[in-house]
Amino acid sequence: MSGFTQTSLRSKLELMTTIETLRAKLPFPLKRLADLAYNYWWSWTNDRISLFRNIDPEQWHQLKHNPVAVLESTSYVRLTQLANDPVYIKRVKALAQEFDNYMAQTDTWASKVAPQISKSNPIAYFCAEFGIHESLPIYSGGLGILAGDHLKSASDLGVPLVGVGLLYRQGYFHQQLNRYGWQEENYDNNLFEQMALEPVKNEQGEPITIELEIRQRIVKAQIWLVRVGRVNLYLLDTDRHDNDPVDRWLTGHLYGGNQDTRIAQEVLLGIGGVRALQAVGINPSVCHMNEGHAAFCTLEIAREEIKRTGKSFYDVEASVRDRCVFTTHTPVPAGHDVFSSDLMDSYFAHYWPSLGLSREQFLALGARRLGDPWEPFGMTVLALRMCRAANGVSKLHGEVSRKMWNILYPERPEDKVPIGYITNGVHAPTWTAPLMADLYSEYLGDDWATNVADPQTWAKVDDIPDQEIWWRHQVLKERLIAHTRSKVKTARANRGEEQHRIDAADQLLDPNVLTIGFARRFSPYKRGDLLLRDAERALRIFGNAERPVQIIFAGKAHPHDEEGKRIIQRLMEWCKHQSIFSRVALIENYDIYTGQKLVQGVDVWLNNPRRPLEASGTSGEKVCFNGGINCSVLDGWWCEGYQAGADGKGINGWAIGEDAHTSDQELQDRIDSESLYQLLEEEIVPLYYDQDANGIPHRWIQMMKTSIKTNAPLFNTDRMVADYVTQMYAPGCSAGAKPILASVIA
Ligand SMILES: *Cc1c(COP(=O)(O)O)cnc(C)c1O
Repeated sequence: MSGFTQTSLRSKLELMTTIETLRAKLPFPLKRLADLAYNYWWSWTNDRISLFRNIDPEQWHQLKHNPVAVLESTSYVRLTQLANDPVYIKRVKALAQEFDNYMAQTDTWASKVAPQISKSNPIAYFCAEFGIHESLPIYSGGLGILAGDHLKSASDLGVPLVGVGLLYRQGYFHQQLNRYGWQEENYDNNLFEQMALEPVKNEQGEPITIELEIRQRIVKAQIWLVRVGRVNLYLLDTDRHDNDPVDRWLTGHLYGGNQDTRIAQEVLLGIGGVRALQAVGINPSVCHMNEGHAAFCTLEIAREEIKRTGKSFYDVEASVRDRCVFTTHTPVPAGHDVFSSDLMDSYFAHYWPSLGLSREQFLALGARRLGDPWEPFGMTVLALRMCRAANGVSKLHGEVSRKMWNILYPERPEDKVPIGYITNGVHAPTWTAPLMADLYSEYLGDDWATNVADPQTWAKVDDIPDQEIWWRHQVLKERLIAHTRSKVKTARANRGEEQHRIDAADQLLDPNVLTIGFARRFSPYKRGDLLLRDAERALRIFGNAERPVQIIFAGKAHPHDEEGKRIIQRLMEWCKHQSIFSRVALIENYDIYTGQKLVQGVDVWLNNPRRPLEASGTSGEKVCFNGGINCSVLDGWWCEGYQAGADGKGINGWAIGEDAHTSDQELQDRIDSESLYQLLEEEIVPLYYDQDANGIPHRWIQMMKTSIKTNAPLFNTDRMVADYVTQMYAPGCSAGAKPILASVIA
């Protein structure tokens, strides 16, 4: 239990910084900073960080860009200084005004297109992780970032929606690479009392809690609120003094522990999540399960209805299904959560009687095949069975999912399996660098971000003068290089490298060199070391004296993924190679902040997964908003984004390996790496270095603009959330989803 908070809940709440205590502390002209700090809306305004960073840039950095912590720790002297600065006060006032206008806006997209989704019966969006900002580290990667972007766009579009998730005391691990390039995992305590979180309280001012039975014990969970623009995110936390010490750790880590922790967390998210909504007085019209982790929520919705109406499970099944929709994210069977029947027994033996079901009937809800006693309980199966609509996250992933789950619908041909697709996007204001956003405001119109899904908005990209977009892009690249040097330098010092290696970090990378970015989870299927397959050839490309190339890597490997860790180790080894040591860098501990710097600063974004294992991918979409160009396997979203000209060459990016596809992995790796080298040698490098006397690569810039113009209107979360509203949330859009294996063992 080391590092575990011993403070009782009471004192924890007393220590809490709240909007009220913060506001009370701030000098009069700065009071509105408290409202801004407690709503993550600030993180996607174009002012972004500068208002908070200006308070104290050093503290801002130290405290991980957490405005609540920065304001809390700022001295009274500094605060009164700012309160006497007329320019600063004007900026606070202007941003507060913008915030008030945003929050009060009623003429939203959703109010016109989906007025039937009301504030009193909103959509409830369930997810095991939310990636909203680096100061709220309760995410691990793509799924969480997508969930965060979903909430932000729902807020922008005025969709009545609330998020439901878990608040992890230690979140996901902190990555540190040792002297041998081997990944080590550390965990830090999140200091909830200094984060933009509020305990949800009842009218008497007492914290609202819910109870549920887990592992034969009653567990209490506290409900926290995070404000994300107009959207409320409710998070459950079991770290309470009145829980058993083991249960306090239920929300200790994201994706930590074994199957037992996993099922306990999923019970808390699904069943606890439904109870939490009820406890705070929200009666959702639709529950959206983002991935199968939350699928137990369907059972709890059924249980409530059975209790209320006295009907049987099979009588309420249809009405539960009417209120539930599901998004699947995993294109491989092994990636879907399943639990053994032993585990199910120990967690649900007390529960199935309340559904009026026998053990066999209950376990059948999660079984792929009926009548097989060894069949484990599948969360995706449960979700597909209990939801009226389901979707994959790209066109290709939709196809793959229909094929994979055809087994549940034996009477249907593959193309009639009721799983559609909505391709993932990214929240443009979050991922577009302020410097680029400013350019778009000038040339596309001030309202470009509100019209982000309209191709007309982006058609005007052609009006931007080449030198205008180029200097901004170069400045962003310099910013990325500065960030990389500083991170690498600290990391080298931390792992005790020799002084000359630490100093060499100051010379790492060069803004005039073609810069590639590669950042994602280091999972073997993502082939982080594909570029090294022919090490000699790679050295020739990167170490070329006239036309060099450089690359920045980032990403974590799952703690149990030895193979993934070995890939990181190989890359770390490569970084030291004599002829390219200033051309290759790996940034530790990939997070949203490093992610932003990378996608905003690179020339080329590389992605080379084994097809079709990348369900969608979103980092390449972020790059498009900043003028970076994708070079990727035709998988996930890029299948839909990539466009070739009459000569078969890409006009808005590059396709690795074209459509070639074989099940022989070795052969596939060879084809794809060969294609990648060839693209670099024959197309990418020559195009980049074809520059005029002022160093401006006009043909390259043409491709940047085509990439922005063709991809930006499609791969954003405004388009995506609008698709969810019209295709999944709105009543009556059941996407042909009839009950599967209907009425199971009635
Ligand atoms: C965008 C993002 C991801 C997801 O990117 P993929 O392309 O899906 O791998 C993961 N981590 C961070 C920090 C991100 O910003």
